[in-house]
Amino acid sequence: MAKKKGDKLGRYESKRDFDATPEPAPRKRRPRKAKATALRFVVQEHSARRLHWDLRLEHDGVAASWAIPNGIPDDPEENRKAIRTEDHPLEYLEFEGEIPAGEYGAGTMRIWDRGTYECEKWEEKKVIVRFAGERVSGRYALFQAGSGKDWMIHRMDPSAEERGPFPESVVPMLAKLAELPADADEGGWAAEVKLDGVRAIAYCRPGRLTLQSRNLNDVTRQYPEVKGLTRQLGSLDAVLDGELVAFDESGRPSFGHLQQRIHQTSESVVRRRMKSYPVTYMVFDLLYLDGHDLMEQPYSRRRELLEKLELEGESWQTPRYSTGHASELLAATAAQGLEGLVLKRLDSHYVPGGRSGAWLKIKNSMRQELVIGGWMPGEGRRKDQVGSLLMGYFDPEAGKEGFRYAGKVGTGFSDADLRELLERLQPLARETSPFAGRQPPKAKSARFVEPELVAEIEFAEMTSDGMVRHGSFKGLREDKPANEVRLEEELPA
Ligand code: MN
Repeated sequence: MAKKKGDKLGRYESKRDFDATPEPAPRKRRPRKAKATALRFVVQEHSARRLHWDLRLEHDGVAASWAIPNGIPDDPEENRKAIRTEDHPLEYLEFEGEIPAGEYGAGTMRIWDRGTYECEKWEEKKVIVRFAGERVSGRYALFQAGSGKDWMIHRMDPSAEERGPFPESVVPMLAKLAELPADADEGGWAAEVKLDGVRAIAYCRPGRLTLQSRNLNDVTRQYPEVKGLTRQLGSLDAVLDGELVAFDESGRPSFGHLQQRIHQTSESVVRRRMKSYPVTYMVFDLLYLDGHDLMEQPYSRRRELLEKLELEGESWQTPRYSTGHASELLAATAAQGLEGLVLKRLDSHYVPGGRSGAWLKIKNSMRQELVIGGWMPGEGRRKDQVGSLLMGYFDPEAGKEGFRYAGKVGTGFSDADLRELLERLQPLARETSPFAGRQPPKAKSARFVEPELVAEIEFAEMTSDGMVRHGSFKGLREDKPANEVRLEEELPA
């Protein structure tokens, strides 16, 4: 004989104050005589302290319940965690609403899917069902894995929907340095403000986020404020492309501010710096959505789908683009001291790692990453400090032996920069010059280093033989390998 419902719902009742929460209180009597009707199920999306999905199955006069942190899996290959929670009253199958702050499970509960199910097997440690819902349909097993509350859920039959594989590591598409093209104002281009930050691809699965830098390092732990993005995406799988940006007091992207975050991996430092140097993930592309690879779709279509997601939050934004006004917009960015524009052909596909002419960057002041090949000491009292940096780049035709001198950079350093540079450069010291061919002037007093550190340099002019003039140091870049640093050549307009 089945246990009395009163016993089964004891835990449910003891966790809740029914004067404070709108959730249903257990009824004294069985609400209806069990007829030969199909059994009901519900999946509630519960935006509590942590987003999760609650699966409830009508069984033996109550709603047997599991909390599923990453949602109901669609792919039979994937086992997902399911935590067995207390039985709920049957009325809960219809419940949605706001559980007030301070109450058990505080947050918003909404019905994500509901329907009926057939029960194939119901054992203490294993349940097999066949769902017939709007979103969830198919044969699923729930089974205890480990002790007590730890269960797993997995799909047993093949998914009905044809789903493209979830991309695991996409090298971002790159923009070529160029002058404003002649047809920039004619409507074939999306013009976006160039953001001075670091590129990151976001891999979003229900309740999970991974951020990868352009050289495929996992940087998720460095930017915890972005994680809330997955809550907005709910149960959707998505791969986003965008730029991590730190804005300064005047609302301009500041690479200097961002540097306070780039190198940090210790959790406590990250937590502190997050307050002084908050980062915003500026999302400008959508590469995959809900089982569909979008990289073959034109940019205009990808943007349309992205904008429908309405990704706007404290630490993530979807910046708009404009068409037909690129030159006007470029002038506006110059007036505001912004870096420039990125133009993207509206009909272009996404080419991972590609630097075709489909994406162009148009810069107000020129910027370039260069590799530090040595330094000149300062004068007088500063003779043990860095006076200027000797910069270089790799000539792609000459390989490892082709490290070329590209001029000296003697301004733009803060005191902290000078200290950090010395600390980072000393272990890289070498006797001989790393530069092939042309040597820096006064090479005798130069301190040479292995060409491993990459710095971002702003400059007014580059001579025709590849020398930076009036270069100013903007910061070290950890997101680009030294051996990939090339001179960026402008495309003819
Ligand atoms: Mn819940």
